Amino acid sequence: MGRKGVLLRWTKQLIPTLREVPLEAEIASHQLMLRAGMIRRLGAGLYTFLPLGFRALKKVEAIVRQEMDRAGALEVLMPALHPREIWDRTGRYDVLSEVMFKIEDRQGRHLVLGPTHEEIITDLVSREINSYRQLPRNFYQIQTKFRDEIRPRFGLMRAKEFIMKDAYSFDVDWDAAEKSYQAMYEAYQRIFARCGLRTRVVEADTGAMGGKSSHEFMVLAESGEDGLVECGPCGYAANLERAEGVTRGETVFEDADRENELVDTPNMRTIEEVSGFLKSPPARLIKTLIYRADEKPVAVLVPGDRDVNELKVARALGCRKLELADDATIEEATGAPVGFAGPVGLDLPLYADKKLRGYRGAITGANQADRHIVHVDLERDVRISEFHDLTYARNGDGCPRCDGTLVEKRGIEVGHVFKLGTKYSEQLGALYLDPEGKQQPAVMGCYGIGVSRTLQAVIEQRHDKDGIIWPISIAPYAVEVLMINAQDAETRRVAEQITETLEKQGVEVLMDDRDERPGVKFKDADLVGVPIRVGIGERSLAKGAVELKIRGQSDKAKEVPLDQAVAEIQGAIRQLYEELNASA
Ligand code: ATP
Ligand code: MG
Repeated sequence: MGRKGVLLRWTKQLIPTLREVPLEAEIASHQLMLRAGMIRRLGAGLYTFLPLGFRALKKVEAIVRQEMDRAGALEVLMPALHPREIWDRTGRYDVLSEVMFKIEDRQGRHLVLGPTHEEIITDLVSREINSYRQLPRNFYQIQTKFRDEIRPRFGLMRAKEFIMKDAYSFDVDWDAAEKSYQAMYEAYQRIFARCGLRTRVVEADTGAMGGKSSHEFMVLAESGEDGLVECGPCGYAANLERAEGVTRGETVFEDADRENELVDTPNMRTIEEVSGFLKSPPARLIKTLIYRADEKPVAVLVPGDRDVNELKVARALGCRKLELADDATIEEATGAPVGFAGPVGLDLPLYADKKLRGYRGAITGANQADRHIVHVDLERDVRISEFHDLTYARNGDGCPRCDGTLVEKRGIEVGHVFKLGTKYSEQLGALYLDPEGKQQPAVMGCYGIGVSRTLQAVIEQRHDKDGIIWPISIAPYAVEVLMINAQDAETRRVAEQITETLEKQGVEVLMDDRDERPGVKFKDADLVGVPIRVGIGERSLAKGAVELKIRGQSDKAKEVPLDQAVAEIQGAIRQLYEELNASA
């Protein structure tokens, strides 16, 4: 509420806007957060929220909190600092080793800065919940997470320290857990819609979290770090880490019936080199890659024009650690220098991509220097251990659900929901007594939202060449009152009066009272992107009016009579909320 003399004036704020695009920022939203004076960088992946940025962040948090509460989740706050032992109990001290910040206290005890909290909440539940009567329960927190990302970048998008909302549900069985999952899924849809974001839900990989299945909420954007595919006709959508594309390409090539034979390919190692030299399309070649799966060498075969998806390989093999073999291992396994591996006569477990089924007339390495084999019939000449989906889907692949075609897009992952099952409850003893007095592990789900990433994703989706276009729901202020000439007494009087009246009505107003050229102030207004701008100047005041403009809508400001200004502004606020709800 506005208290007299505490009007929110620009001259009492810290809003260090920048005209130039900062060199450190590559994508629009990062540039705009810096230029609009919302954040400042402390170090790689470390940011301070300045007052405007912090106000917007708090609004995202408030929406998240309301929707979590509405879905029946209980807010808690867990420590960011964890004893190492709890992470050892699930083996994730090793699994997440690279991403975890590890520290020691003065007694030499090992601690970690929490990258996520499954272990912590499950340990708590193991102590505090012991009967089916206490289930279901869903606990959430909004808290700082720490991850030693390999490539912190794009400002808040991939930071080393960031704000996450994480929630964890505990249920008596899978059916009940499914309901908890559904409730969170729906809450997420409402949260992102209320933040003014259009999101796409995609099937996702469960990664280091483990568990049965998961969905990610993606904000479509060219700058997104995640690839995804979607099918228009049936609505199938999946992260590239997981997406399956159906090939409709050829599998039987020229001279398929001939016996295989060695050909010379002097110094031709890559797919491009061999395909050019033998005048064959890359898809006719079979790429043979030697990996170490939990230290054991294996061969992975994929069509020459496809990329191996290592997540899929690791899942298919059920291994924990998968890495490309080094040159020495490859030479030992194939008896040839690197670049000439092939499956014919290769004494290693052979895992082939499904798309290679029925490959005839193909070309492979010969396990001999400077030689390849042509007319390879995979069924006749090679003993494949297992076929799996091991490659990345791509634009133009067939949809695995219908006869539509997949389209590739980029997205920013803002939220992730997982069906975890009983992995953590079993490992950490989150057991409850069922009505028959039998001990059962709770069935869990976990649900994350990158709160700070979401804030920036809104800007990535809602901006123009002049600056940010905030949705009314999370704008740092709803209204900016701009004094065109701050030295004019009447301008000041009217600006202060309108600001005060609005504040009494609970509207958050930023008043630009700077003694600056109007051009500078209008540019800053567009850059900072407050939804409703009220321009107050001598010219319109002479007509008994002020100028009203909605950011991102019609180009021209509209003159409204002074005595209707507050009512018009309130009407505009209502309308902006209605438009937001209509799109939700
Ligand atoms: P990513 O694939 O982008 O690294 P993740 O799968 O590791 O994300 P989760 O562990 O599911 O992410 O975390 C929940 C949410 O936290 C993500 O959906 C994302 O919005 C956010 N998040 C994850 N890592 C970061 C980060 N380094 N900086 C900012 N937000 C992040
Ligand atoms: Mg990550």
